Amino acid sequence: MLPNQIPNWIGTQERAAETNEWFDKLNPANGQILCQAARSRKTDILQAVETAKKAQSAWADMPAVQRGMILHKIVVGMQNRQSEIAAIVAAETGKSMKEALGETGGAIQCGLFYASEGQRLYGRTTTSGTVNKYAMTIRQPIGVAGLIIAANTPIANVAWKVFPALICGNTAILKAAEDTPATAWIFGQIAKEAGLPDGVLSIMQGFGEEAGAPLVAHNDVGVISFTGSTEVGCIINRVAAERFARISLELGGKNPLVVCEDADLESATKWVLLSAFSNAGQRCASTSRIIIFESVYEKFRDMLVEKTKKLKVGTADDCDFGPVINEGQLLGMVSAVEKAKKNGAAILCGGERMTDAEHKDGYYMVPTLIENVDPHDEISECELFGPVALLFKAIDFEHALQMANDTPYGLTASIHTKSIHRATRFYDKVQTGVAVVNAGTHGSEPHMPFGGRKLSGNGSREPGTEALDIYSELKDVYINIDPTQV
Ligand code: NAD
Repeated sequence: MLPNQIPNWIGTQERAAETNEWFDKLNPANGQILCQAARSRKTDILQAVETAKKAQSAWADMPAVQRGMILHKIVVGMQNRQSEIAAIVAAETGKSMKEALGETGGAIQCGLFYASEGQRLYGRTTTSGTVNKYAMTIRQPIGVAGLIIAANTPIANVAWKVFPALICGNTAILKAAEDTPATAWIFGQIAKEAGLPDGVLSIMQGFGEEAGAPLVAHNDVGVISFTGSTEVGCIINRVAAERFARISLELGGKNPLVVCEDADLESATKWVLLSAFSNAGQRCASTSRIIIFESVYEKFRDMLVEKTKKLKVGTADDCDFGPVINEGQLLGMVSAVEKAKKNGAAILCGGERMTDAEHKDGYYMVPTLIENVDPHDEISECELFGPVALLFKAIDFEHALQMANDTPYGLTASIHTKSIHRATRFYDKVQTGVAVVNAGTHGSEPHMPFGGRKLSGNGSREPGTEALDIYSELKDVYINIDPTQV
């Protein structure tokens, strides 16, 4: 199913890196080598940019409706090969086949949405202040788009970037996440089979500093869209801003879920478990701060700990979650928990690597709940991106809201309450890009805008029609319908 070596796609050609270097991609479920991927460097990126530049004007000149029809063929290809894509996602990430199929379904929905945008790509017609004049806006492509993604939901991340970039008439270079090279590669194969013209999409494998950085720095890459950590987002923001490139940053989170005293505690427990632990907590939208009203704190905590201890960890469909993506991430989390413990944190459950026979070779962390930490401790403020959540006590609603906002991040938030007044005040005042009432913290649907405030992003929103603003230039057009009049 998986080739031993995953090459780049430079347009429709599969290519090894110019140096012919390869790096190992390990299976997170057992630490074994799964495949190797091309270790691209600046020279490879330069080739991809030249290829994208050559293909751009013909792609832009094709009516958007026709571009949409080609994108639709890619979507059909994804539907036909959904199980194959999902099997690769599952192998690369360690998530269950059921989860991987669901994720692939989401990517297909996203593709469908943007393929249909070819029939819209609306500008605006409006009035002019001058007689005999019409005023309107039209959308035009930016040129070459540089797309850089994380590994957590690999096929969804590919779809979120590639489809909107292409429907707007840009050609694109996707720098795949180094932990999920094969998912990006199979997408390239499907795009080729669907008849995407040569050069419209290149998919480059490699590490961030070696293959991502030259893309960000390249003067001919007019828009950079990045999904990843805030730390790397800061670097990209600086480098791309130097040359006034358009930048979209979808970054990390430290997302709160508030449990009020009037909440349905059973249901809130269920949502916390899903939000904190699904995909092994590797979701930018995952719940990592659980803020509980004092009056129900002990009761809710005990319910949650009991259920957390029963979670099943592994790669089978009946498991609640699997391994984290690589060993570095696992070790980083374990040491963050150790450090918090030394500073007085109480570990309610978990806090360590799984070392039993079934899990010891993979990158598995015991689901972890922690209390007795200060809201400004390091562990409370930095994103761990794993199955670790912290519990905090709030005196009342205003205190809970203040704690929810007292964080460097602002991506998602949720409240559990039966009060419409509290729910309304919460979604109104919480400083995040997504607010949820009586469910988990999650991302957006494909037709809705997602993004964060503060250190979670730079204010851009993807996907939805809002992503079209990232990948296109608006031009004002005025038509004088009576040139004899001055
Ligand atoms: P990361 O920032 O380490 O890497 C993300 C991508 O950036 C990778 O492809 C990597 O190769 C590349 N990269 C690294 N250094 C680079 C550089 N100097 N120049 C250019 N590219 C570079 O992130 P990660 O650990 O792979 O992913 C986890 C992070 O992604 C978390 O912070 C998570 O919250 C975030 N994330 C955000 C969203 C969102 O929509 N807001 C979605 C998923 C993940």
